[in-house]
Amino acid sequence: KLYNEVQDLKGNIRVYCRVRPFLPGQCKKLTTVEHIGENGELLVSNPTKPGKDKNRIFKFNKVFGQAASQEEVFLDTRPLIRTVLDGFNVCIFAYGQTGSGKTYTMSGPSISSKEDWGVNYRALHDLFHIAQNRKGSMTYEIGVQMVEIYNEQVRDLLTLAVPDASMHQVTSTEDVLELMNIGLMNRAVSATALNERSSRSHSIITIHVRGVDLESGTLLRGNLHLVDLAGSERVDRSEVTGERLREAQHINKSLSALGDVIFALAQKSQHVPYRNSKLTQVLQSSLGGQAKTLMFVQLNPDPDSYSETLSTLKFAERVS
Ligand code: ADP
Ligand code: MG
Repeated sequence: KLYNEVQDLKGNIRVYCRVRPFLPGQCKKLTTVEHIGENGELLVSNPTKPGKDKNRIFKFNKVFGQAASQEEVFLDTRPLIRTVLDGFNVCIFAYGQTGSGKTYTMSGPSISSKEDWGVNYRALHDLFHIAQNRKGSMTYEIGVQMVEIYNEQVRDLLTLAVPDASMHQVTSTEDVLELMNIGLMNRAVSATALNERSSRSHSIITIHVRGVDLESGTLLRGNLHLVDLAGSERVDRSEVTGERLREAQHINKSLSALGDVIFALAQKSQHVPYRNSKLTQVLQSSLGGQAKTLMFVQLNPDPDSYSETLSTLKFAERVS
C-alpha cells in the first residue's frame, strides 16, 4: 500500500479530515473514502481503478468518519481554541469542495439546537465559560468581527458599508448568536442576489480576546480566526465566462495563496508570501510565528466526487 504522510504533528500546523455522511437519497453502498482505525488513517479508493492500485492511504492528525458528532469534533478542537485565552493566535479553516460539509463543521446546520452547533458557536460558548471561571484572577474582553471576502474584496457583515470591519464587544453566547444571525442574514441577502455567492466567498469570523492578569497587571491579547472557505472545486474554463469565470479565478488565486503560505510555514521558509491575496493578508496575524493553525479537510464520500476528493487531499498533503 502507498502511504502518504499527510500529517504528523509538525510545528504549529495540524490537519483534521472530516468525511460527511451520505445525504438522504444518495446511494449508501459505495464510498470512496473510509475511516480506518483511530490513528488518523483514511483509505481512499479510486472507483475507476481495479485491483491493488485502487487504494491509497492518507494520514492526518485525526480523521472524523461519517458518524462523528459535532461534539466529538469540537472536543478535539477545544484545547487549541483555549490557547487564545493565554494570548495565542489561532486560525481554523474548513477546506473542501462545495457540499463537503465546511459550513456544517464551522457553523452547523442550524443554531436553534445546541447539538447542531458547529465549531464557531461552541468555541465562543467555551471561551465565555472559561473567562467566567477565571474571574477573580483574570478579566477578559471579547470582541467579534465577521467579514466576507468575495472577488478579493473584503466586506463587513456586521455593519454594511463601513470599510473597516466593525468590532463588537460581546459578553455572552446570546450576544454572539444575535450578531452572527445579523452576519448570516447580511450574507444571505447577497447570496440570493448573487446566486449562492456563499460558496464562492470566504467567510471569516474573528474573535479578539484581551485579558488582564489582575495580580501582575500583565496584558494578554489573542485572536481566533474561524474561516469557512469558498468551495475548492475546479471550474471548467470552457464552460464558464464573465462573472462566474472571474469568481473562479479569484477563488483559485486565494486558495493557492493560502496553500503557499501554509506550505512556506511548514517548510520554515524565510519568506512567507502573505501579500498574494486578501485572504492571507487578513489572516496574517494568525498564520505563522507563535500562531497555531488547524485545517479541516472536508470530504464528500460519493465516488462521483473522487477527482475533487483527490485534489482536496493533494492540497492537504502539500501544506502539512
Ligand atoms: P459546504 O459548506 O462545504 O458547501 P455544507 O456544510 O453546506 O457544505 O454541507 C452540504 C450538505 O451536507 C448540507 O445539507 C449539510 O447539512 C450536510 N452535511 C454536511 N456535513 C454533515 C455531517 N457531518 N452530518 C450530517 N449532514 C452533513
Ligand atoms: Mg458552505
